[in-house]
Amino acid sequence: MTLYAEIILSLPLDLSFFYIIPEAYSEEAKIGSRVLVPFRQRKLTGFIINLKKRKPAQDFKLKEILEVLDEEPVFSSSFLAFTRNLSRFYFSAWGELLQASLPSSFVLKSKAKISLSEKGKAAIQNGPMSQGERSILEFLQKRPYSDIFLRRRFKEKNLSYMLSRLENKGLIHIKREVKKANRKKEMAVPAGPTQLEMDFSLDEKSLQAVNIIAGKAGKKIFSPYFLYGAPEKREAVYFSLIRKALSLRRRVLFLVPEISLTKTLLEKFEKKLGGNAVLLHSQLSERKKELEWQKIKDGKVDVVAGPRSCLFSPLENLGLVIVDEEQDDSYYQRESPSYDARRGAWIRAKQEASVLVYGSAVPSVEAFYKAKKNGYLLSLDEGIKGRKVKIVDDKRERGVISEILEKKIGERLKKKQPILVFINRRGYAPFLICSRCSYIPRCIHCDIALAYHKREERLVCHYCNYSLPKKDDCPECGSRIIRKKGFGIEAVEEELKKKFPQSKIACFDTDVIKNKKERERILLHFKKGKIDLLLGTQLLVHQAGLSPVSLVVVLYPETILTLSDFRASQKTFQSLHQMRKFVRDDEKSEFLVQTALPHHFSIQQAAFGEYICFFNKEIKYRRIMNYPPFSHMAEVLFLGNNLRTLAKESRAFSLHVKSQADNVEILGPALASVMRVRGKYRIQVIMKSRRKRSLDEVLEKSLKQVKGRKSIVIYE
Ligand SMILES: [Zn+2]
Ligand SMILES: [Zn+2]
Ligand SMILES: [Zn+2]
Repeated sequence: MTLYAEIILSLPLDLSFFYIIPEAYSEEAKIGSRVLVPFRQRKLTGFIINLKKRKPAQDFKLKEILEVLDEEPVFSSSFLAFTRNLSRFYFSAWGELLQASLPSSFVLKSKAKISLSEKGKAAIQNGPMSQGERSILEFLQKRPYSDIFLRRRFKEKNLSYMLSRLENKGLIHIKREVKKANRKKEMAVPAGPTQLEMDFSLDEKSLQAVNIIAGKAGKKIFSPYFLYGAPEKREAVYFSLIRKALSLRRRVLFLVPEISLTKTLLEKFEKKLGGNAVLLHSQLSERKKELEWQKIKDGKVDVVAGPRSCLFSPLENLGLVIVDEEQDDSYYQRESPSYDARRGAWIRAKQEASVLVYGSAVPSVEAFYKAKKNGYLLSLDEGIKGRKVKIVDDKRERGVISEILEKKIGERLKKKQPILVFINRRGYAPFLICSRCSYIPRCIHCDIALAYHKREERLVCHYCNYSLPKKDDCPECGSRIIRKKGFGIEAVEEELKKKFPQSKIACFDTDVIKNKKERERILLHFKKGKIDLLLGTQLLVHQAGLSPVSLVVVLYPETILTLSDFRASQKTFQSLHQMRKFVRDDEKSEFLVQTALPHHFSIQQAAFGEYICFFNKEIKYRRIMNYPPFSHMAEVLFLGNNLRTLAKESRAFSLHVKSQADNVEILGPALASVMRVRGKYRIQVIMKSRRKRSLDEVLEKSLKQVKGRKSIVIYE
């Protein structure tokens, strides 16, 4: 009897395909297994998602599966369900999510070696073929190349077709390499109790939290929690919960942002869990990643920790999922296949009926609101301790470094105390302007002014890195009076050096720090006191090895507030909070913020470390404006080379949305705040609805109506 397989391909398609399972593979073809199938002149890796005995109703002739690649399925049925739900939530292709869940060597299309055959060698001289085919053969004379390399080298649209023609003529060999998942030697080792040191560091509130959560751990019921508290306290709770889960013989997934994957955290895992834990991070080689994946798949480890991509680890019998630093936006993968690992963790934990714990000291407003409203918020402490804080109003001051700042910095320098200064603006000035004709030099690829970098004497685009030498006269009117507008880190450095010529002042930004060695050298010098004052951008904020100092100065944190983003206040608060962490925890330490918006609540509350006050204010604004968490929001971005086509497409799209639903609010189409980046125009349409389902239904139908490149971001 013939069997049919429903297959998802690793392509950006929202479709499945049917293939016939040949008799020889009737045993091996299982749901969750990889297969090799013919698809439009190509051979692709696919994943079986369903098996059918009856012939599917389809007009065209079905093709046969070429090969079943696994003895054992690579995906469990619950993993398939999880990824399908995730793909639906974010309008990502399911096949691409599945592909991203595997080591790259497991997906065929990433590896095919192409070499010249004897017949091909002979044919180069006089065989009948197109110019394109001949140039490929000539290129292959040197040595075999991968198809990926050839694709990059030749930029032919129908390269796959050309290659398969050449293969059929016998002029080239295509050797496809694909890793196979072996049959498990033995049954997966059940997660066993591990010898673990006792932890007495829990205070009363933390112990309470552990007891509440641990009570649910044994029950196999999906239970979400939000831990609100300082990092050290959260960590102690996490390790108690991990211990609990392991003692119940269930496994653990621990997500952290990439920048929090510090040496200290790795060492703690090593010390507390030993070989029972696997830590994945972006520095691992492909080979190492593959080995770790296999270890997890074989059930040889019980705890997996790492950044957002770890969400797809093939852990079975999952009992606990932790998402630390919940506020971190790096959990959202914007590039295709896009998804938010925070929602992903929810979907997976629900699928596996496990406990889910989010944690943060500065939660996203959306998550905090939901946790409070639905009764799963657990507070570990009462906010953050106060320190000496001063907000300097720049309107009363002249120059980049105000008088107050100069005095405070001078005092600390005299006492030989290290100082950190943050300003999140690269270069010397954000832009130049001609004082006669008001001409502003702009990027030729992006709709943005070029920043002036004095060190290199160049004008630089911060979006695409396009740059040109700075000229002294205006290209429009020839006038020689071109002025600098605003200031960046280089201007601050210049001013500080002028004011404190005796002190050692160093800069820390992407223009100075070109590699890891340079980064470590400067941080070490600062630590040893060879640098008195370290001045840095966001790059410095992300250095985990930096220890707290007694004076931290922030210049103009309001740059984010000018963005057209409904979360601008939250982002300002979080960025200031990160800088505040570098203030040493004692009476004499100080935190200084110089701003043109001294009364903006996000700056005030962040400076004083008042998360709850910030939250109460921000949530009111969200409610009035009907922004998340009070609505679900989709931001659809249309990208393309031709503005006219783009405008037409986006208009058709929004008309379709309007005709479909009256419970979906629609804004736009409108030009994005930066309307052109790297030569691509950007038009956005924003949709809001109280129910995610209404949004989904409309989006699904309307997206099918328009061609062209789009990216979709979902906020909830
Ligand atoms: Zn001019
Ligand atoms: Zn520069
Ligand atoms: Zn540019």
